[in-house]
Amino acid sequence: MIKVQHASGGYTNESVLRNVSFEVGTGELFGVLGPNGSGKTTLLKILSGILPVQEGEVFIKGKRLQEYSTKEIARMVAVLSQHSWQSFSYTVKETVSLGRYAHQHGWFQSWNKEDEEIIQRVMSQTGVSTLQNKNIQELSGGEKQRVFLAQALAQEPEILLLDEPTNHLDLSYQKELLDLLKTWSVENDLTVLSIFHDLNLAGLYCDRMLLLENGSINIVHVPNEVLKEERIQNVFHTDIKKQPHPKVAAPQMVLLPNHERVEKTVRIDKDLLAISEEYIALSSPIALRTMSSGVIGSGVGWYQKFVNRHVDKNYNCSDHRLEMADFLKVNGFEPAETVGMMTAVFPEDVAYTLCELDSFSIFVVVTAGVSNAVDASKSDLHSFENLPGTINTWIFVNGELTEEAFIQSIMTATEAKCKVMESQKVIDKVTGTIATGTSTDSILIAATQQGNSIEFSGTITPLGKLISKAVYECTTIAIQKSRKRMR
Ligand code: ADP
Repeated sequence: MIKVQHASGGYTNESVLRNVSFEVGTGELFGVLGPNGSGKTTLLKILSGILPVQEGEVFIKGKRLQEYSTKEIARMVAVLSQHSWQSFSYTVKETVSLGRYAHQHGWFQSWNKEDEEIIQRVMSQTGVSTLQNKNIQELSGGEKQRVFLAQALAQEPEILLLDEPTNHLDLSYQKELLDLLKTWSVENDLTVLSIFHDLNLAGLYCDRMLLLENGSINIVHVPNEVLKEERIQNVFHTDIKKQPHPKVAAPQMVLLPNHERVEKTVRIDKDLLAISEEYIALSSPIALRTMSSGVIGSGVGWYQKFVNRHVDKNYNCSDHRLEMADFLKVNGFEPAETVGMMTAVFPEDVAYTLCELDSFSIFVVVTAGVSNAVDASKSDLHSFENLPGTINTWIFVNGELTEEAFIQSIMTATEAKCKVMESQKVIDKVTGTIATGTSTDSILIAATQQGNSIEFSGTITPLGKLISKAVYECTTIAIQKSRKRMR
């Protein structure tokens, strides 16, 4: 649909854009990204025929842009720029109707039923129908933005050029507008080329994107390739991190503020631990980066409080997460800040230890009930039965872990735990073989993300060795304590 070949252009003889080449396919939602002054708006002006192509070529539908008349371009290309609304004083409906102008032969005379239907439809799609008799000057920035989008859509263009369409829009309208553009691009083969300042929105909606840097193309590619941490850091000269979106396969970039981690240095150890009849709790002075499988706060996150709650071995509840959240609140823990686990083991049967190296330390806390022990290699012989008896393992790391080290910590801890099952001769009652754990074990890895950076945590790395030793020792003691009570 659009083909740009070695194009240069700008405002005077000096080109703002230099040697730019890319293609946009029919029905594509194509993003244009880049820092301020990189030439995004200039590119849009060249594509809409406002600025001349000084060198190279721009083709629309296979024909050179210069070979189209102004009216032909206006029928084909709609532009929604940042400053569309400066000096108009029309009603909303009149403003939207102007979008039909390029399709008119002699303005009011040829206004027909189809034109009316089209403007009513686009006003409804952009959510401005109820405003149609209002003066455009009375509207909020977001409302105006939607009116001008309606005007652009009323034009029934084949190409829509947008300069930051979500500017002025609140979150829900940003989403609605981009959903609408996406639907239009797919259903009506509308080719959308849009400038985005919000890299995350661009990553969510664009099929492909172009990244401009000082008037030249850095890359044209799919979002996952363009939104690379290093590339964005270099082009935008700022510290960012890339992470996956929790629901869809789109990259998301997050800023790293300078005031990050200016908190005082903390060390997690037994001084922060509280043990009562009802629970074991650890309260950290700062939020810790966590990976866990708890009843509350499971998955990956940042949490400050950690609660391992004792429940009766007959505990049964239809919504145990809700019940646990209530329990936490009653006991002064904010559920949104807390990782919460449950166990039938008595809190006083906990085992904990601090293991230190010069550069970092870990604090491990374990409760271990094993009446529900299972041999993982024979678990298919078990029918599902949620028996009490759980090993809950907490590993606090006073150091900074990579994502990989978090995952390896879980593996290393699990291997150490299995070995305790063997040395303590914990038997799977169904199979009669040595168990490897229980069916409801939970684990927490929580790191201060301060101090030394720890890249790996396999069994024979420095951190892995501490975890192996501490988990092995604590699990052994915890099993012995809970067994003693059972007898
Ligand atoms: P972006 O949209 O990426 O912020 P622009 O395309 O607006 O960047 O601007 C690119 C460069 O062109 C900037 O250096 C800017 O100063 C220059 N520029 C923009 N508009 C004009 C203009 N009307 N006349 C002369 N130079 C301009």
